[in-house]
Amino acid sequence: MCTQVWVSYRCGCRAKTEFKQCDRLYDRQSNLQCSQTAAAETESRNYCSYHLPKEDKATWEYTGRVASKP
Ligand SMILES: [Zn+2]
Ligand SMILES: [Zn+2]
Repeated sequence: MCTQVWVSYRCGCRAKTEFKQCDRLYDRQSNLQCSQTAAAETESRNYCSYHLPKEDKATWEYTGRVASKP
């Protein structure tokens, strides 16, 4: 089954990343995807780009990781 990979960031955002066509259709060099697709979850070690201000634009920098709730 083809798989849509999602990444979850530390800030709580989720984003679609790679769409993986399954071997069955890939090997056939098909332009199709399965009618049912699976979802896979990966976890990022950091915040998403939206929640990480650019170095030259930020007015404030926090250092030290925000403690995660126990
Ligand atoms: Zn498939
Ligand atoms: Zn975010």
